[in-house]
Amino acid sequence: MIPSMKDKGMLPSARQTMARPRGRVSTVGAFACDICGTTFTKNFNLTRHKGKCAGTKIYHCQICQKIFHRTDKLQIHMAMRHPPQILCNNNF
Ligand SMILES: [Zn+2]
Ligand SMILES: [Zn+2]
Repeated sequence: MIPSMKDKGMLPSARQTMARPRGRVSTVGAFACDICGTTFTKNFNLTRHKGKCAGTKIYHCQICQKIFHRTDKLQIHMAMRHPPQILCNNNF
């Protein structure tokens, strides 16, 4: 009889060296909301914020394009930054 050479022995020295990328993102404010521009240090904070930000009505300043989530904030900004010009319209 012919002895079948079936060596099913696996070499224990064959270890898989997992090259794990250890890049730690530590940049402050690396994640910026593209809706209102608020920066976050962590991605999930931005993701959570974006859900809120997207669901919130946004008010643009017509002059400087600054973004507000509330009309009263925008009105305060308008009064402070862009005070209304007094127009004298004497239309009889
Ligand atoms: Zn936002
Ligand atoms: Zn403005």
